[in-house]
Amino acid sequence: MAIRNVVKEGDNVLRKKARPVTEFNERLHILLDDMAETMYATNGVGLAANQVGVLRRIVVIDVGEGLIELINPEIIERKGSQQEVEGCLSCPGEYGITKRPMYVKVKAQDRDGVERIYEGEGLLARCFCHEIDHLEGILYKDVVIRMLAPDEIEA
Ligand code: ZN
Repeated sequence: MAIRNVVKEGDNVLRKKARPVTEFNERLHILLDDMAETMYATNGVGLAANQVGVLRRIVVIDVGEGLIELINPEIIERKGSQQEVEGCLSCPGEYGITKRPMYVKVKAQDRDGVERIYEGEGLLARCFCHEIDHLEGILYKDVVIRMLAPDEIEA
């Protein structure tokens, strides 16, 4: 496994739409392992493949409840709403308040291509939305209600 470089805001790859994964092979598994290692090494709760320069529809998430790998994810249900503080590994040191659904249901494939359903509430729902947005070339700053001022950010 290897830690990959996380691209920062301003890099064009974050603005491109990622393509579907069609081959569930060793190369995908290495990428997934590297993405998880990179997420943990940077203390993130989610990482999309765009952020390591790969334009494929791949996401890893861990909000403290175990690793979730999403291949070709799609949000198929949204309920409620929440306004919470959000940040992004590609925009270090910055945070903003976004409005997201309180609950989302996601359909995705696992690393072997098997279709699975995931449900998330609260932080996990925010994460699903944030990471799946990345695959569309969307950053949380595009949907932010208000960015936090430096003195609002806890050390
Ligand atoms: Zn992000």
